[in-house]
Amino acid sequence: MSKLFFSKSRPKTESLPEKSWKILIVDDDPDVHETTEFALKGEVVLGRSLQFLHAGSGQECLEVLDGNPDTAVILMDAVMETQDAGLQAVRAIREDRHMHQVRIILRTGQPGSAPELDTIHRFDINDYKTKGELTKNRLLTSIITAIRSFSQLKIIADGKIGMEQIIESSRFLRPDMNLSDFSVELLHRVNRLFGPLRKGVFCRTALGSTRFQWIARIEDDQVFTCDESPDCQPEEMVRKTIEDSLRSRRSRHLNNRNSLYLDDGEEYAYVLYMDSPDFHPDEIPLMSIFTSHLSLTMQNFRMYHRMERLAYEDMSLAIPNLSALIREIDSVDTSEKYLYLLDICQFGVLNDLLGHDFGDIVLLSFVERLKFSFPPGSFIARDSGDVFGVISGRIPFEDLQDFFSLPVSVGEGSRQLSVNIGAVALNEEDVSGSDYLRNAHLALKRAKSEGPGKSVLYTPVIGLETRERISLLQNLRSAFTHERIFLMYQPQVNLADGRVIGFEALIRWKIEEGHFIPPSKFVPLAEQSGLIIPMGNWILRMAMHSLADFNRKGYPGLHMAINVSAVQLRDPDFIYNLEGALKDSGVQPEKVELEITESIALLGADRVVSLFQKLKKLGVTLAIDDFGTGYSSLSYIDSWPADRLKIDRAFISNIGAADTGGRIVDLVIPLGKKLGLQVLAEGIETEEQAQKLIELGCPEGQGFLYGKPMGFKDALNWLGKNKV
Ligand code: C2E
Ligand code: MG
Ligand code: MG
Repeated sequence: MSKLFFSKSRPKTESLPEKSWKILIVDDDPDVHETTEFALKGEVVLGRSLQFLHAGSGQECLEVLDGNPDTAVILMDAVMETQDAGLQAVRAIREDRHMHQVRIILRTGQPGSAPELDTIHRFDINDYKTKGELTKNRLLTSIITAIRSFSQLKIIADGKIGMEQIIESSRFLRPDMNLSDFSVELLHRVNRLFGPLRKGVFCRTALGSTRFQWIARIEDDQVFTCDESPDCQPEEMVRKTIEDSLRSRRSRHLNNRNSLYLDDGEEYAYVLYMDSPDFHPDEIPLMSIFTSHLSLTMQNFRMYHRMERLAYEDMSLAIPNLSALIREIDSVDTSEKYLYLLDICQFGVLNDLLGHDFGDIVLLSFVERLKFSFPPGSFIARDSGDVFGVISGRIPFEDLQDFFSLPVSVGEGSRQLSVNIGAVALNEEDVSGSDYLRNAHLALKRAKSEGPGKSVLYTPVIGLETRERISLLQNLRSAFTHERIFLMYQPQVNLADGRVIGFEALIRWKIEEGHFIPPSKFVPLAEQSGLIIPMGNWILRMAMHSLADFNRKGYPGLHMAINVSAVQLRDPDFIYNLEGALKDSGVQPEKVELEITESIALLGADRVVSLFQKLKKLGVTLAIDDFGTGYSSLSYIDSWPADRLKIDRAFISNIGAADTGGRIVDLVIPLGKKLGLQVLAEGIETEEQAQKLIELGCPEGQGFLYGKPMGFKDALNWLGKNKV
């Protein structure tokens, strides 16, 4: 392999020491050759001997030079086969062959035939002498001056080539490579720059430490990246040299061994160790330029990788983040793979109840569980909060759910977690990472809606349904702003005497005459989108406004039951808005009843109790709606300061049928009473149901038997025809 700074292409003459200056004597007189060589024989200039080359004509001179491009000095006879043969050869050397370093001493037989001054300049002729002038001493002085000048020029030219090589190398040492690839490339480059290397090592340590780690090594043109294997353990002498450099933070040059020290200014120190048999001390200045240059590259390397980490790593869990997940899907062949999104069920509640520090520990344990559950080589990232993304092969959902059903250790103890999984196959062409991610989120959402521990694989149908929901939501927003949303009022009665006790306000969305979208379809949508907050405030105001109107029209004793969603109750401004509505409508707060479903239990017992207490402070009454369909435990409800229990319609419709429905009503009525609550049965449609409920001691009811939900005017008419 040829060396770039100090050419090794020169032919080695057996009898001469390796380093010598080549002097080319060009003359058509053989005597001149002989006497010149004789006069200079055995001389040493700048530590090197002289080696003589010979040519008898201008033409021959060029041929010899072609074989010896590193010739230092030419002693050129001006007049040979023609009057200007010497000058013609000089012109060819400088202008055709572009050899600018070789020094030329022009000699002529007679004084007075000196070339013109501008010729001397043009061809960069060092010296002009008549042959008579060239006594041994004068000749030697002339040669020494010429060699000095040649050597300076050569250092400059070699340095220039070296610099070019350094700059060229940095094109290949890109900071966006990973450290291992970077190191491999670096060793290939230095092998060309300073080699061939018998051995080369690139190693790294934390700045200030001498405990280093090999990253890559080169031996006989072969580069290896290093792991912990014994092959990669340094020999004693190499280790000592490297440690010495790290301790002193200096480069070391010992015989053929160079250990170049560099650091990135902040984080890591590096040593590039090179054992190069052909090393020459003249190379040290270039090595130090190379080292400075490499230090800068390492600083860039550090900055790039830090930025990369900031951009693509989740700092708190030390795993790739969402951007990294998308990049991975976009850049890697994932055609056989799946993207899984895993969401820890109830994590928000856990976090709220037990604190964020605990939440963080749970997340860390969960990451460990992910690593354990998915096969090695899977890409694990944090999507956001408690949602994680994993790219892996196909794994049955049941297997994954089995893994996640095992308790995870959290701090001292352990905890059972359940997860929802949404997955998508990454097998379509021209689908971007963010599109896949969106689809996986749709599948996850679907899984969550199915309940804790459920998993869903994305299908195009899911995408379609979601688009439909989105368009429904858009329509709902516009309906709300265009007043196609309104309230209907359904009477609630005392079962024993049939007297009206109040109304329940029920929302309606009319899309065209006689055509409605049921609240069971759009209320959840409004809850998910947050639209329920402004809509709920409007409902509160509207219902209280109607209650005030009923009062004014001669029905002062009625109450108004208003459905309130758990999402509204979580809104920090809810109490403030409720207060505002009460004040503006002027109704008595105790005539306003908020209907709340058991799903509120998800907020946690303490929060529910404190919320209920705040509401009660305002004077409003509270009803637990749809009782029996939720999943809260009775002990919860016992602690809630509610006023009324509404038995869900499902249990009432079963009355009379010989199954459990009727029996549940049997149990619930005394239970409500025991808890000190009013009990109201929903969905009474038949006399038989009403009779049975009266027998069982249920005091209040609501249902089509008494009255369907009606507009305000119809409700007023209805009041006129019924007992109040
Ligand atoms: P809910 O609060 O349990 O309301 C009672 C539902 O039962 C109403 O359905 C009502 O029309 C229906 N119903 C009443 N009597 C009978 C009967 O004898 N037979 C049958 N088959 N049904 C009867 P609607 O109006 O469709 O409301 C459904 C649910 O939507 C409500 O259940 C409530 O959870 C929610 N909702 C309705 N209005 C609002 C509202 O203004 N805000 C909120 N957040 N939710 C509301
Ligand atoms: Mg209700
Ligand atoms: Mg209900």
